[in-house]
Amino acid sequence: MKVKAKLNSYAWSVQTIDILKAELDQVIDRRLDVPLEPGGWWHQFVCPEHHTELVFDPLEADGSTFRCPHGCEWGGEPYRGAWLVFKHQAMARYALQSAAVYAGTGEKGYADLGKRLIVRYAEQFPLYPVHPDAQPWMLKGRAFHQALTEAIWATTLLRGYLLLRDEDVWFDEADIRKIDRFLHMLESSMTEYHHILSRERGNPENNYTAWLIAALFCIYAVQGDTKKLKRLVEQEGGLRHHLTIAVKPDQLEFEGSIYYHVFVLRAYLIAAEMGSRVGEELFSLRGEQGQCMQGMLSVLVRLSDPDGFLPALHDGPYRRVPFAREIAEIAEIGLSVYGDKSYRRLLGHAYRELNGEAGRIGMLEALLYGTGSWEGRIGMAAPGMRGSHNLKTGEIWETGDVIEVQVTREVPRPGDAMQADRDLTAHEAGGIEGGTVNHAVGESPYSVFLPHSGFALLRTNDPQGLQALIDFGPHGGSHGHFDKLNLMIHAGDQPLSPDRGTVPYGSVLKKEWYPHTACHNTVSVGGRSQNPAEGKCMRYESAPNRSYIWVRTDEAYDHGILDRHLIMAEDWLLDWFEVDLDEPAAVDWWFHYVGTGLLREGSGEVQHSGSAEPGNEDGHAYVKERSSNVWSRDGMQVDLHIANESGALAVASFATFEGTVCSRVESPGLADDPSRPMEGIRLHRLDSKARFIVVYRAGNEPISLGWTYAADGDWLQLSDGRTTRSFTMTNNGLKERVLDENLV
Ligand SMILES: [Zn+2]
Ligand SMILES: [Zn+2]
Repeated sequence: MKVKAKLNSYAWSVQTIDILKAELDQVIDRRLDVPLEPGGWWHQFVCPEHHTELVFDPLEADGSTFRCPHGCEWGGEPYRGAWLVFKHQAMARYALQSAAVYAGTGEKGYADLGKRLIVRYAEQFPLYPVHPDAQPWMLKGRAFHQALTEAIWATTLLRGYLLLRDEDVWFDEADIRKIDRFLHMLESSMTEYHHILSRERGNPENNYTAWLIAALFCIYAVQGDTKKLKRLVEQEGGLRHHLTIAVKPDQLEFEGSIYYHVFVLRAYLIAAEMGSRVGEELFSLRGEQGQCMQGMLSVLVRLSDPDGFLPALHDGPYRRVPFAREIAEIAEIGLSVYGDKSYRRLLGHAYRELNGEAGRIGMLEALLYGTGSWEGRIGMAAPGMRGSHNLKTGEIWETGDVIEVQVTREVPRPGDAMQADRDLTAHEAGGIEGGTVNHAVGESPYSVFLPHSGFALLRTNDPQGLQALIDFGPHGGSHGHFDKLNLMIHAGDQPLSPDRGTVPYGSVLKKEWYPHTACHNTVSVGGRSQNPAEGKCMRYESAPNRSYIWVRTDEAYDHGILDRHLIMAEDWLLDWFEVDLDEPAAVDWWFHYVGTGLLREGSGEVQHSGSAEPGNEDGHAYVKERSSNVWSRDGMQVDLHIANESGALAVASFATFEGTVCSRVESPGLADDPSRPMEGIRLHRLDSKARFIVVYRAGNEPISLGWTYAADGDWLQLSDGRTTRSFTMTNNGLKERVLDENLV
């Protein structure tokens, strides 16, 4: 669907075009031009004191002083070079925005602006030096340090160019010569880098490869070269091969990072968009194990919280405007192409971050890729939407200005996503080696299990209940964290102990804090982070009212085994951690939470004073101990009540073991602002065996815990005031025992 047609059909698009126009008017008034200097590395746009990203204003003509949200000011390099990256990306985006506004309004001034920016870049590109200051590991770009950034920038610029051409905007011969030269240079460097990555360096699965493919496809689309494009779909390191090797059969990108998953998926969708321009339908392309763009979108929906928030697994920001735009783009394209309304949850969240309650209004992604009258706010479906996406196989479906798709597969109907979940879970049953997957009759359609990527999300049918996400997968390559068996809990749509994400890579915290074990909710040994490790699932059972997972890693430490058992019941989550080492060592169990905690520490009978220093290696120096006590008895209960600004979130109830040191700690917080400290609990033991047991419950009422010794194994009792259930550890994992009233 053309932009013009959207203006005639959708209320949100009319206001949108006015807002986008007003912004471009400022670009015209200020006579903004493309910078004559190449960009550096954007990751260096970060405050060295607060580790927050610096503030960027795309309408600023030239930047020399750069502000941190906390008021610091920085100048010179590397900030200026990083600012230039944002500036180049913003100017390319203005070119695309101008094309979109012209396509909607036919007002020539916007075509002129888009054309001017594109031609200026074509003129300037050969004059940028191949970057001398790039980091040694980078493939060097011209307009940027990194060829990767150049590829991303080029796709935006060329999408703008193609859209102007669609609208019959005329480029004279001199302009076309400049553009041809620019494209020729781009094509030869991108082709060379593709060869280096996929052949010489032997890592074609790199997320970089996807962007080289996307940029090359844009060039081929401009040139109308179907042959080259088809070759790069099928060749080694081409699009189909990349889908096969860079995406796991459970549809998550191999680095186990939501950020890089979205990054790669966006490149694929741009490639598919370019395919449709030259008559190649690539939106339904599949890798050898069924990997596909639609599956990659749906795994995001499955991993999101009820609000559409995505966990910041491994490297990636916790929250960031350009990332929210990327999510908006892939979800809008997905909604238009595949018609799966479950993507609206992702869109609703992305637009709320970008745009408050205004939804699609004013959003370039909506104007370019969005279809339908839906306003972009969750729960605000416009009337008349129903059935608008129910196309039958084989119909031509026009979507966006640039996407024109032959829908070759049945478009899923609302509700199909849940069925797909079930199908996938059933299929996964054979996917665990050496472990057991049990599916009770009526298994939980709410939990998610990704056997190849190694993530499980346990939840019940209560959207306000607890959700527990656990990481037992591969390390994640260069973007992995030392976080095996990390537990991330949500209470309804509120994060309780989320992954904190990562700061821009120019900050020292990128290496010194965020990847380390102590920054996650898992166990570290000997005051050191885990090895890069892979875990395994020993057992997974899923039913509507109870899910159980047992995960293990024997790679995280050379002489020890870590086991974590989680049981998600309707009203609580049991978290049982066992550590088994060859030799006694310092064992630290970590739990960091969002909000303020109140520790009901029990009487002096339960604990006496004492502490254990966290040490200085592997990020431990960033952990500040606030208070500390030693538990003096087994089988007592200590409750941590956690609240945030909207009220009580959850209670974590610890079963005490004699000699465990319980410390309240503080550490650099969520990665969008590390200067806001995050509270946490560290449980510490010096032993070769250690056991940590916690029960979490949403709200303010703790579960009552009891501990009973018995000849055939000790058992834990959980009572919610109405019923009591008891659990014991066996060689086959956690078992629930029928309570014998006579023993109470
Ligand atoms: Zn600062
Ligand atoms: Zn992490």
